Amino acid sequence: NSSQSGPLRVAVIGASEVGKSALTVRYLTKRFIGEYRSDTDMLYKCVLQVDGAPQSVEIMDTWASCDQSSDAHLQWAEAFVVVYAITDKQSYTWAANTVQELSERRSSASVLMLGNKSDLGHLREVEEVEARTLALTHAARFSEVSTAESCTTVSQVLDNFLKEVKSQRNG
Ligand code: GDP
Ligand code: MG
Repeated sequence: NSSQSGPLRVAVIGASEVGKSALTVRYLTKRFIGEYRSDTDMLYKCVLQVDGAPQSVEIMDTWASCDQSSDAHLQWAEAFVVVYAITDKQSYTWAANTVQELSERRSSASVLMLGNKSDLGHLREVEEVEARTLALTHAARFSEVSTAESCTTVSQVLDNFLKEVKSQRNG
């Protein structure tokens, strides 16, 4: 099976302004860059250390004009990072619906749900326990992160996720 030996394909999806681009760049460069001109998908092709060995990875930082994940994205990836902002209830609703959709349409895919902007606790609109429970219901991983403030957490959470995706593939 050729897809088994090809690059790991990960799509970063979510409503706009939740921090998908910031998260992707933070993970790949360790830097936080505050503003992005984003009006297109960005595909990053790289070789990362996954579980102690080099692994080709393709990460798609998606962009959608109408806040809908496209079928093309859903078909392309074998793993999904579904991002919302803890300060934005609508973005959580989007993420929750999408995690549910993925569990129905792409049941073999690995899913990580991320509540971003955890540094903005005073503006919180989404309770962590609610999101965690939802993720658990759909066998998705879950974490809250602050892309702005913690490089370490972002790295650890995504490193672990890629490790899981890889081991699932080698299954
Ligand atoms: P995208 O539309 O989902 O790609 O979102 P962006 O990556 O462009 O980020 C949207 C806005 O949220 C930008 O102004 C970022 O600087 C900001 N942002 C991203 N992550 C964080 C975070 O963890 N904390 C805070 N406070 N702001 C963030
Ligand atoms: Mg973006």
